[in-house]
Amino acid sequence: MLGAKPPRDRNLTRQKLSLDKQARAAALGQKPAILWFTGLSGAGKSTIANLVAEKLHVAGKHTYMLDGDNVRHGLNRDLGFTDADRVENIRRIAEVAKLFVDAGLIVIVSAISPFHSDRDMARQLVEPGEFFEIHVAASLATCEARDPKGLYARARQGKIANFTGISSSYEAPENPELRIDTAVVDAETAADQVLALLQAHR
Ligand code: ADP
Repeated sequence: MLGAKPPRDRNLTRQKLSLDKQARAAALGQKPAILWFTGLSGAGKSTIANLVAEKLHVAGKHTYMLDGDNVRHGLNRDLGFTDADRVENIRRIAEVAKLFVDAGLIVIVSAISPFHSDRDMARQLVEPGEFFEIHVAASLATCEARDPKGLYARARQGKIANFTGISSSYEAPENPELRIDTAVVDAETAADQVLALLQAHR
């Protein structure tokens, strides 16, 4: 079953490793973190996340990007868009993000991640202060008017089932570390706000 815990009788123990997260992060000269971008399709998550990745790279930081759409081509190719599959999609992304944090990286996640409980689960996987929830906020009308991939038009025509905002719900974060209204804040300014957020907590 998806997401099942390993049975207790499988003699699994966790291997103790002498090289730890702290040592790896120190070697990279940074504090690892997860920058978790959530929001409706077309809100601007990937656009802003890409700019943040570029700016961090220029600043000499070591990052890795987990883009929800891209991950669905590989690791999560077996998953669809039912609520259960969305939960599993985010669980896997969160676990991979945790591994990259353990490697010392600043992980940039761009995924609709519509449910509170899944984002909270991702937050709980890492240490306090390592998880930054960034709500890329734009109204459904704004996202639909942009429709960069033509998905809203197709969803309205009934050609896409379980489409977030139309036929599947989106639970907006109540207390994100940062909320960016992309109807009024341009992408460049938004990326700078994310960098300032990270800086303020280092
Ligand atoms: P998401 O990853 O949330 O689905 P994308 O980044 O793929 O969204 O697409 C957002 C679209 O909105 C892009 O075409 C982008 O150019 C446009 N856009 C307009 N204003 C902004 C803004 N302030 N921030 C980010 N994207 C914006």
